[in-house]
Amino acid sequence: MKNVAVIGAGTMGNGIAHTFAQFGFQVSLIDISQDSLDKARKTITKNLDRLVAKERLTELQKEQTLANLKTFTKLEEGVKSADLVVEAATENIDIKLSIFKTLDKVCPPATILASNTSSISITKIGSVTNRPDKVIGMHFMNPVPIMKLVEIIRGYATSDEVTNLIMETSKKLGKTPTEVNDYPGFIANRILMPMINEAIYSLYEGVAGAEEIDTVMKLGMAHPMGPLQLADFIGLDVCLSILQVLNDGFGNPKYAPCPLLVNMVTAGKLGDKSGEGFYNHTHGTKELIVADNFK
Ligand code: NAD
Repeated sequence: MKNVAVIGAGTMGNGIAHTFAQFGFQVSLIDISQDSLDKARKTITKNLDRLVAKERLTELQKEQTLANLKTFTKLEEGVKSADLVVEAATENIDIKLSIFKTLDKVCPPATILASNTSSISITKIGSVTNRPDKVIGMHFMNPVPIMKLVEIIRGYATSDEVTNLIMETSKKLGKTPTEVNDYPGFIANRILMPMINEAIYSLYEGVAGAEEIDTVMKLGMAHPMGPLQLADFIGLDVCLSILQVLNDGFGNPKYAPCPLLVNMVTAGKLGDKSGEGFYNHTHGTKELIVADNFK
């Protein structure tokens, strides 16, 4: 395994590309938006500079990492010699199925096709290809260069050989891979999202303010971030779409997204990436927004 293509250069894609390139893989980073690719290269350079400043990387290693990274707007060009593709495009089933149908046509038959999806069924993604045994979930955590976990999701048809190879590849990135089966939300989001949803319900029902809810969970449960701050960091649109997958997949009302979350996403308040969610993120501030407006 030497050539890796990463599809989608957003929050996750740039971190995944950075990590593979830093550990010596030849990386093609692909996005339909040239602007996203430009931003990704800037973010990767800034994050590498930070590692150099902390003496966790040398200047030479930084240069080698950047030299290992190429960017493309045309999918076919970026994936043609890939041993592994890691898809990290927008969390939308139609977009993902269309990407995997194309990948199956244009990639060499031996290429392993992985998805970084937070919640979409790997079995479903595999079913639109002629190689479901080579389709697997590789769920990195945000921020990818720092977080140790990769949740490895086996679809119904994923082979042992492919699972073992992806577990080994994850270890080569300095990560701890953890194997789980393909059910809605896998493990990470099946447990995390109901907690975030309950925090939003607590705000919506006026049990406490956002800061109070986050303080209880930070200081009381030793969480590094409160659930509302974490929701802003993940993206409120991403949280909503994962809750919808859990709700549809299990048919249990305990997963129904809080109406306040739905209203905020409809109003374009998506957290860090839009500058406003439960907190105001513009100009680097973390000023609290009273979300009462959206009830
Ligand atoms: P994002 O919105 O930051 O980035 C998505 C990128 O995909 C954009 O740059 C967009 O231009 C690109 N894109 C859309 N359609 C494309 C296509 N057809 N071909 C190529 N590029 C395309 O999203 P994100 O937060 O990086 O999430 C990406 C994936 O990672 C999702 O599946 C999400 O569920 C998953 N994920 C997100 C997080 C998180 O904390 N944000 C954590 C783990 C997993």
